[in-house]
Amino acid sequence: MTKDKILVIGASGQIGVELTMALREIYGNNNVVASDLREENPLLKGSGPYVSIDVMNKEMLHVQVIRQNITQIYLLAAILSATGEKNPGLAWHLNMQGLLNVLDIAREENIQKVYWPSSIAVFGPTSPRQNCPQQTIIEPTTVYGISKYAGEFWCNYYNMKYGVDVRSIRYPGLISYKSAPGGGTTDYAVEIFHDALEDKKYESFLNEDTYLPMMYMPDAIRATIELMEAPKDRISVRTSYNVAGISFSPKEIAAEIKKHIPDFEITYKPDYRQQIANSWPQSIDDTVARNDWGWKHEYDLAAITDDMLKNLPELIK
Ligand code: NAD
Repeated sequence: MTKDKILVIGASGQIGVELTMALREIYGNNNVVASDLREENPLLKGSGPYVSIDVMNKEMLHVQVIRQNITQIYLLAAILSATGEKNPGLAWHLNMQGLLNVLDIAREENIQKVYWPSSIAVFGPTSPRQNCPQQTIIEPTTVYGISKYAGEFWCNYYNMKYGVDVRSIRYPGLISYKSAPGGGTTDYAVEIFHDALEDKKYESFLNEDTYLPMMYMPDAIRATIELMEAPKDRISVRTSYNVAGISFSPKEIAAEIKKHIPDFEITYKPDYRQQIANSWPQSIDDTVARNDWGWKHEYDLAAITDDMLKNLPELIK
């Protein structure tokens, strides 16, 4: 059997840092190669190999995959929802071509497994707002959502046509304290903790009653690894799995923070991200992921708030 050697593309980002660290724990530091367009994230320094890769440069990527004897690829490089609306052309180009480059190389080099995340942003205003099912009306209205939905079908196509074992999750908004979020509509749920600790106040760019599906990073990392380690015959969805954590609004997260910081105050000044948030479901039905590979989230809002307020002060000192 070939020894697993993993390449993480976009390893310096919000998910990349924590996923790389988790994979290094499982597969061994030297068997997980971190890569990114920007410099190595300080949290990863010294813990394993790092190479500079632009996923848009297919030849450079191909050479690295061969040189490093890569057997699995995790592709995390993308332009996120809010940034994507500011530069739609770039978002489409990177999110599509980056994925196609990886899928092509995976096919040519017989890569064992590929991971590529989609997002709840595939859903649009015509999708059910509550408990949005795996298969439903999907008419995204952001360029990010359009790119993710198209990407899901490219994954499905490469699996059906060429047998590439590519797996995917539609992440909800992710909350983490280790690395900063990268320009998504749910970033407020991370910023609020930083501002609560530093200034005891936060101005939210979403209205108080904007409910969105969210997940704590440890749950997201566990979901990713559980999906990737599931036996092939348990994977019935080759587009992307709905995976749910919890749903809450800015008002609810503020109330939870107030339990720890009583004089914390929140104000609301919705901007262009409100419109993006309004187009997404408020909650997600993840029955298919639960039945196929046993997914179950652990962290609720109280546990997330507790953990964020306990760990963040160390990092922002
Ligand atoms: P991020 O923006 O924090 O990280 C992305 C990383 O990719 C960055 O470090 C960036 O430098 C790198 N990158 C950009 N262009 C590159 C290129 N051409 N070549 C190589 N690297 C490049 O994003 P994230 O939050 O870690 O998201 C990772 C994936 O998860 C993305 O596909 C995103 O769409 C998806 N996702 C994230 C969330 C979330 O809440 N964070 C929710 C749903 C889906």
